[in-house]
Amino acid sequence: MQLPELLAPAGTMEKLTIAVRYGADAVYLGGEQFGLRAMAGNFSHEALAAAVAYCHAHGVRVYLTVNSYPPDRQLRDLERYLRQVAGLPFDAYIVADPGVLRLVRRISPERALHLSTQANTINREAALFWQEQGVGRINLAREMTLDDIRATVQAVTVPCEVFIHGALCIAYSGRCLLSSALTGRSANQGACTQPCRWRYRLEEETRPGLHLPIEEDATGTFIFNSKDLCLLEQLPPLLEAGVGALKIEGRMKGIHYLAGVLRVYRTALDTYGKDPAGYRADPAWLEELTTLSHRGYSTGFLLGDPRDVGQEYHAGYRRSHQLVGVVEEYRQDGASLVAVRNRFAAGDRLELIGPRMKQATLQAAGMLRLDAEGGAAPTEVAHPNQRLIMPLPAAAEPGDLLRRPPPTD
Ligand code: SF4
Repeated sequence: MQLPELLAPAGTMEKLTIAVRYGADAVYLGGEQFGLRAMAGNFSHEALAAAVAYCHAHGVRVYLTVNSYPPDRQLRDLERYLRQVAGLPFDAYIVADPGVLRLVRRISPERALHLSTQANTINREAALFWQEQGVGRINLAREMTLDDIRATVQAVTVPCEVFIHGALCIAYSGRCLLSSALTGRSANQGACTQPCRWRYRLEEETRPGLHLPIEEDATGTFIFNSKDLCLLEQLPPLLEAGVGALKIEGRMKGIHYLAGVLRVYRTALDTYGKDPAGYRADPAWLEELTTLSHRGYSTGFLLGDPRDVGQEYHAGYRRSHQLVGVVEEYRQDGASLVAVRNRFAAGDRLELIGPRMKQATLQAAGMLRLDAEGGAAPTEVAHPNQRLIMPLPAAAEPGDLLRRPPPTD
């Protein structure tokens, strides 16, 4: 059967190579301007060219995000930017603002256009409107239910895309002014400081300065704090509804998150594709997603109004496993090369993970630290940014990750 495209974020070149390796059919990324996610790292012009070439060499489609809402004073820069990237063979641009769409039409008329979630397409009439504008794919708002999605997919002839995993806003995506109001950094320009996850206090208006704590339980309260979206268990109805692409949120998330999410959804989709009638979600997949940084999972609006079950009452992100290294080279003689990301020590129990749920355990041992001159010295403790030589399980390959699970006691 024809599976929908699995579309992953690629905030940096390293994340892009991880996305390709861990099973994305397509990636989306931003240039240095107009792509939202101002803090995602983003790509210079040369890096964009290299990213497109890398993706196409690996049979992966690549989309450029141009989905901010630029005010009039930015239009000249936008036009210059669009002319600069016009020669790069992106498979599509992701746009939200009709003005940007119009400019792209003038500068790169051949370019396919995908409608961003920032356009908040919330019903089938809106989808039909965008189809009439010549948009080649429509991202359906996260606030739609499964019935809404089904009806919209049937109403239009262009493919529809839905988010299946990642952070949710407490407002319609892109319609939130909290960050602009409190910090001057606009979510609509890609600079959200995420004040929806801050702690708030109450002030009675005739008693300025008297800040009363808001306490619903021992952790206080997080009145704007939404859980993250996870639709792993809803894949069959989404696939039966005929959606054309499944999108993962998170250009600013790390490589462990990206690899973990992708290997789960890639495996789930391929399993479904082989035998839709016999498909069952493996509990190990959901378990893997809970090892990654998240704020509790919910199905968002898919099954109806989330009300209080969509709210996260704990402040922080939670995750059980920590990335400690990236395999750069595997050697059977016990001298594999590892780039260290976080501290670990000889004797630590580690997991090696790779695409399609590949997993092995090992105990860190026999570590040699490489120095700038190419020398190697034994070490008991590995620190971030060091490179190590150490033995790894036979399944290891370049691009696999090493992570530390929580202690078992
Ligand atoms: S403050 Fe929170 S709800 Fe608002 S745009 Fe940022 S992440 Fe979304």
